[in-house]
Amino acid sequence: MNYRTVKPTGDQVSLLGYGGMRFPTISGKIDEAKAMRQLRSAIDAGVNYIDTAYFYHGGQSESFIGRALKDGYREKVKIATKLPPWLVNVTSDMTRIFEDQLKRLDVAVIDYYLLHALNRENWEKFKALEVLTFLTDLKATGKIEHVGFSFHGDRENFKEIVDAYPWDFCQIQYNILDEFNQAGREGLRYAASKGMAVFVMEPLRGGTLVNRMPAEVLKLYKEKEPTWTPAEWALNWLWAQPEVTMVLSGMTEDEHISENLRIAGAVHEQPFDATHEAVVKKAKETYLSLQKVPCTGCQYCLPCPFGVDIPRCFDLYNSKYLLKQKVGTFYWMQLGGVNGKPSYASLCRRCGKCLEHCPQSIQIPDRLDEVAKDMEGPFMKPALKTAASAIKIYTRLKRRTRGAK
Ligand code: SF4
Ligand code: SF4
Repeated sequence: MNYRTVKPTGDQVSLLGYGGMRFPTISGKIDEAKAMRQLRSAIDAGVNYIDTAYFYHGGQSESFIGRALKDGYREKVKIATKLPPWLVNVTSDMTRIFEDQLKRLDVAVIDYYLLHALNRENWEKFKALEVLTFLTDLKATGKIEHVGFSFHGDRENFKEIVDAYPWDFCQIQYNILDEFNQAGREGLRYAASKGMAVFVMEPLRGGTLVNRMPAEVLKLYKEKEPTWTPAEWALNWLWAQPEVTMVLSGMTEDEHISENLRIAGAVHEQPFDATHEAVVKKAKETYLSLQKVPCTGCQYCLPCPFGVDIPRCFDLYNSKYLLKQKVGTFYWMQLGGVNGKPSYASLCRRCGKCLEHCPQSIQIPDRLDEVAKDMEGPFMKPALKTAASAIKIYTRLKRRTRGAK
């Protein structure tokens, strides 16, 4: 593992940090045995920073991490967690949530504490509740070591927040596709110029930069570096930028963890120069010309009160154009409710609940309209009705046959 210094704190953090929002699950709950094995093996391989948040995995992530870091693992890592603005309405909510976080993580001190998902609205809300005094007091009492914020707003807002407090660090969404979105490269450099450490989240854009690369992009990559994987391109692009202190990755599969560890360990052996930059630029142009909706699959917009599986709708829609997959029938079967509750795009009633939660500022109802027109067409609902009747008849016949035996 390679390490970089968090300038304001002097901590040496691993190039790869472990994100706590994508642990493997079984029936909606964290698969603790598997996730613990994965997390501890990453720590054994040199990862020394674990990032979580109050609401990750519906509130299970912090408590799981508290359990996973027993047996001497707590001492090997820095723990980071975040205060969610959407659950804070009065000043006392901040103290209540923070105390709850200490209990869940089973620690006396949180090493890196962040205001979660700041944008203009959340920042104004926090400021009105005097969050900066709250953070200063926590630091003074020694309950938190270092203070930062994670960010999903616009660049101007980012700079305003950077300038508003002596932050130790910030966490930004930054990857090949988001070079000019949100804080972007300009924000990264701005924060670094102020002496802050910058941690990167969504380096692979929720896996998009690995699993959903169109053939045209893979060809460009292969021509330049025949042995590099798409993850290698995405991570090496980040680590070639000295302002990036650490890259956080939320990993679910063993192979993803071992691949990311391998790349983080070999980064100095793979120089990334202007010719690589040129390939990335071309790859990005190609990708963006094919992608329909810039959804990262983060699921912050869920649950939808009308049952729409928003990220899955966008995922299948993107697949059709990025990967040229024939996903029409698959969309009907998966989201049509043949084997469960329907969750297709046209169930959207435009209530707007999801809009305030989307860090990518996607106009979700409008884009779902687009998905419905493209993926559902006039035949989906009659086809689903026919499928449901056929299943009913089949089940009845099966029951009768069983009764006759
Ligand atoms: S706007 Fe549509 S997708 Fe969003 S929460 Fe409301 S019904 Fe669901
Ligand atoms: S629509 Fe927005 S909030 Fe929902 S999964 Fe996609 S990026 Fe995340």
